[in-house]
Order: sequence, then structure tokens, then C-alpha cells
Amino acid sequence: MKILVLNCGSSSIKYQLINTETKQEMAVGIVERIGASDAFLKHKAFDKEKIQIDGEVLNHSTAIEYVIAVLLHPNYGVLKNIKEIDAVGHRVVHGAETFSGSVRITDEVIKALKDNIELAPLHNPPNIAGIEAVSEHLPDVIQCGVFDTAFHMTMPPHAYLYGIPYKLYEKYKIRRYGFHGTSHRYVSERAAALMKKPITELKIITAHLGNGASMAAILNGKSIDTTMGMTPLEGLLMGTRCGDLDPNLPLFIMEKEDLNLKEMATLLNKHSGVVGLAGLTNDMRDIEKAVEEGHERATVTLDAYNYKIKKYIGAYAAALGGVDALVFTGGVGENSPLTRRESCSGLEFMGIKLDPKKNENAKGECDISTSDSKVKVFKIPTNEELVIALDTEEIVNSVIKKKK
Ligand code: ADP
Repeated sequence: MKILVLNCGSSSIKYQLINTETKQEMAVGIVERIGASDAFLKHKAFDKEKIQIDGEVLNHSTAIEYVIAVLLHPNYGVLKNIKEIDAVGHRVVHGAETFSGSVRITDEVIKALKDNIELAPLHNPPNIAGIEAVSEHLPDVIQCGVFDTAFHMTMPPHAYLYGIPYKLYEKYKIRRYGFHGTSHRYVSERAAALMKKPITELKIITAHLGNGASMAAILNGKSIDTTMGMTPLEGLLMGTRCGDLDPNLPLFIMEKEDLNLKEMATLLNKHSGVVGLAGLTNDMRDIEKAVEEGHERATVTLDAYNYKIKKYIGAYAAALGGVDALVFTGGVGENSPLTRRESCSGLEFMGIKLDPKKNENAKGECDISTSDSKVKVFKIPTNEELVIALDTEEIVNSVIKKKK
């Protein structure tokens, strides 16, 4: 099948057209600065040159129109007829407690997404706008939603409840949900495949370290804990997000700095984490460079970043009652031997032994632990789009079956 995978943000739409038989991307691209007059679309079809088209893109509907047009373009496209698109799979950020797996998008699903906007005010509205835009331009195509939160719906109550009055959970669904679920699921399944063992017999810790970052404890293929919470602000130190905090801090800062709610949220989400602490950048490549040049605050920031990962490795080993595999993924996890080395350093006592050479030269999917390491350590490039395409294909197949 040919599945169009969409990741709709507030001002951008990332897309991939994936052939599920070959598991390869036929075309990838992004529309950026939606809503602005200087918007642009970057597009690359398999075996064709990369192009950029500049122009005004008013909203998600126009953006989808452009994506379809470029996929059909005689020189840069990959499709002769729009009917070649078998289905559209959307990355949807927040499924709340409503969705524990991928679903076909129906009117009820859209209503549930709208009901959940309070939980994901920044993410769910553009996801809904993307779904509505596809309904407008491809009215006959099946659409599916693959949720960032779904994989973590197996967390037990003792892991997802906060220590606040229970009635607030009942009233507002305040609890930990976790995110990056599609990535944690994918890399844990790949780790099991590389170990040639059924995932149902493995204890795996996954670390998705991108600009946003989270870790998960996966017992027999099911997430039992993860570092992000009700929102993606909790847990690890991230590019611009603070991660775990003393909950009194926002109150203290708001009072001292005379900040309102919105300003406080911006401080925690956009000006904290690596950028806030180092005062330089949120890009870990530049932080590593600054450390090499002897920048003190960059050094303590990098140490704090890696220390937090190590702390959660220990916590999740306890939660799982042991560890068979540890997986690094995401921009930092896949590309930084330094973070992999530092976050695993001193963990030899629990059977985690990195092979320095394998770690430095890690390419593609690989085992970077020593042959006698009790815990296998992997670097595995994530592929959330492929999971979305395969889940969508499965749903389309079940719809076809039902019709027969
Ligand atoms: P997103 O969360 O936006 O999907 P990615 O998973 O693509 O982000 O990760 C982006 C981050 O990966 C960048 O901000 C950068 O800090 C980091 N990164 C990429 N390459 C390297 C590298 N070679 N060394 C260290 N960090 C890297």
C-alpha cells in the first residue's frame, strides 16, 4: 500500500509517502511557516532532486493541497493519480485515556480529540486541522490516527497517578500519560528482533533523546513507566524544557519575577532545559563543542543532561526488576557517543558495559555493548513514520475484510 503519513504541527506539516511493501519512503517533505506569507515547501522524491517551493500558505488546508500537488508533479512527484494513495496516517499527540491503540478516524474520534484539547492545547488542534484538511481534499481516503500516548496506556495506576487529591484525577483526568510512544514501541521491538528473542520475554529500557526527550521501562513488550507526564514537560532535561522540578518552583518564580501563567509556561517550555541552563543553545552538538572549548556552564549542563538519563536507567532497572537491553534513539541518542558513554558510565555494577570502539563507530542499528555485557546496549534509529504507515495499513486491511 501507499500510505501518506502526516505530522501536523501548528505552523508546519511533515509528510512521508511510504510504500508498506518495501517499507521505503517514496517521498518526504515539509511545509513550514503555515499562516505566514513567506511559507515554503521542501520536497524530495526517492531518486529525484530535492526542491523548495516558496509562497504563501494560509492554513493547513492549503498546505495539504500543495503536498498533494507536489506528489502528483510530473517532474518532482511520485504519483500519476491521487487515487494511488491508499490511506492517510496521522501522528496524533494526545489520545488521553480514550485511545490505547491506533484507530480509524471517524466523527466520534474527531469529537474525542476535540474533547481532549485541554490536555494538549498546543498539539491536538493542528492535528485536527490536518485531519479536516485531508477530509476536504481526499474525501474518499481512509484516515487513521496513531497516538503518541497510546503505547503508555499499559502503565499501572501506581506509575501514572500523581500524589495530589484523587478527585482532581477524576475531574480533569490529571495523570501521567507519557509521549513518544510510537518511537519507544518501535525501538523496543527492533531491539528484541536484534536479540532474536520474543519481546514478551524481555525487560527493555528505551531512551528517546531528541529535542524533546523521554525514557520508558518496557516489560514484556508493554510500557510500565515513562518519564514524561501529563504533558511533555516532565522527566529528563530537554533542549528547551525543564524536566522534573520541585512543584513549588513555578509558584516561587511567578511571585518573584511577577510572571503570569502564560509567561511561566513559556519559561518552563521554551527557555529552560539545556538552553536555559547553559545560556547558549538547545543544540547538543553546539553544547558538546562548547564543552570542548572549556565553557563551564555548558559543561555542567551536559553533565546534568547525562546524569538525569543515568538516574532513570537505575530507576527503571528497579521498576523492571532487571534489564536485558538498553536502547538509545532520537537525534542525540543516535548521534552522540558522548551522551551514550556518560549516561552508562559507572553502571558496570548492574551489567551495563559499553564497548568504546563500537560506541564511537556506531552506524545504523547496532549493539554497542561488550560481548560479556549482561545488558545489551543498542543504538537504533527510530522510525515513527513507518510504524504509523504499518498501523494504518493494518486498519485499512481490517476495514476491507469487514466489507467482504
Ligand atoms: P526532534 O525532537 O525535534 O525530533 P531530533 O530527534 O531530530 O529532534 O533531535 C534533534 C537534536 O539532536 C538536535 O537538537 C541536536 O541537539 C541533536 N543532535 C543531532 N546530531 C547530533 C550529534 N552528532 N551530536 C549530538 N547531538 C546531536
